[in-house]
Amino acid sequence: ITVPNDLDAHWMPFTANRQFKAAPRLLVGAKDMYYTSHDGRQVLDGCAGLWCVNAGHGRDKISEAVARQISEMDYSPSFQMGHPLSFELASRLVELAPDGIDHVFYCNSGSEAVDTALKMALAYHRIRGEGSRTRLIGRERGYHGVGFGGISVGGIVSNRKHFGTLLSGVDHLRHTHDPARNAFSWGQPEHGAELADDLERLVALHDASTIAAVIVEPIAGSTGVLIPPKGYLKRLREICDRHGILLIFDEVICGFGRTGKAFGADSFEVTPDLMTTAKGITNGAVPMGAVFAKKEIYDTFMTGPEHLIEFFHGYTYSGHPLACAAALATLDIYAEEKLFDRAANLSEYFGKAAHALRDLPNVIDIRNYGMVAAVELSPRAGEPTKRAYEIFVRAYEQGVLLRFTGDIIAISPPLIIDEAQIDHLYAVLAEAIKATA
Ligand code: PMP
Repeated sequence: ITVPNDLDAHWMPFTANRQFKAAPRLLVGAKDMYYTSHDGRQVLDGCAGLWCVNAGHGRDKISEAVARQISEMDYSPSFQMGHPLSFELASRLVELAPDGIDHVFYCNSGSEAVDTALKMALAYHRIRGEGSRTRLIGRERGYHGVGFGGISVGGIVSNRKHFGTLLSGVDHLRHTHDPARNAFSWGQPEHGAELADDLERLVALHDASTIAAVIVEPIAGSTGVLIPPKGYLKRLREICDRHGILLIFDEVICGFGRTGKAFGADSFEVTPDLMTTAKGITNGAVPMGAVFAKKEIYDTFMTGPEHLIEFFHGYTYSGHPLACAAALATLDIYAEEKLFDRAANLSEYFGKAAHALRDLPNVIDIRNYGMVAAVELSPRAGEPTKRAYEIFVRAYEQGVLLRFTGDIIAISPPLIIDEAQIDHLYAVLAEAIKATA
């Protein structure tokens, strides 16, 4: 495949695609653990695409299900209508979800799932006559997609800076992550649950009667794999319960096996009121998101006139037949291959391999949980993110695709990875860290 010189003449690149023109990185094929690059190289996928291809690439079962569905029925309206797969999928998803969560609402991405969940939280309180609860609480360094809701509750200031006031009344929990203190913690940090008490500060500041919901990722992924200290999420749950505040887990990355269980909620033994998912729900093959809700929330919405749910929201492609077909096939693969158990079993080997990099130059922290890990590097003076970017480029050239976010390298391979591939991934990363020191 030849790459034309004016490749990006008309394409508007994403923020992070700087230097794309200088060094095109095009992927043209994918199978199991590997991408094929435009210049014909096999590239080990160290981040499951963007944390989504949990069962590995090019799964025949998924492509066959999607092909079958597109020839049978390519599309069906999602309003006043349904199709059998959407109902079957909903019951399969609920079966997988923590006890007490028994409804799903379909959308098309993580960002849409977040906006949907935030709207559900606001509507829930208002329908119950608690319309003063309009405030949403996110967390510093939280990432919840790029919709207006998601960037408002998200904790990345640069993602908000050009877009005015966004949602009003949003506030953020402090999430002090200090590599010096957490450095090289194995798995979950033992200490720091009291960080959750910052929610009490916000309750005192704003009054609980103004707060609708708190949204956090069980493990903050895109901002660098921040593992919650032991007990942190339970403490958040307790504080929310005490003050009638809904707790939303953004499981877009954690969901579908990444933590070694179906959801982060299972791993950390905390059941939220609402859960947002996407990515792994279809193994990345077809865009889809889903919001999971407790029965109490669903029941609150069912107070409208007969057959009219009191929650005015939905997308043209909610429960798209192709997405449902892909999701059902994906859930079959997860179950048949016991991929969540596989993730749990592999996580120790994977974590040890990550921690073996601790003495390399500029490494200041290593974090892991389940099948996700991060290596944090000290930023090069005056050039933030440059070091991680160079490591990313070097590793890609050496045949391993990783993800960098700030000066942090994130690793989250498909759950089908084997030990030899884990060794190879970390050997290439180690070499790239040394080469860019
Ligand atoms: N929430 C979380 C936790 C995410 O990691 C992401 C994507 N990385 C999103 C929401 C947004 O998902 P999408 O890009 O599908 O809109």
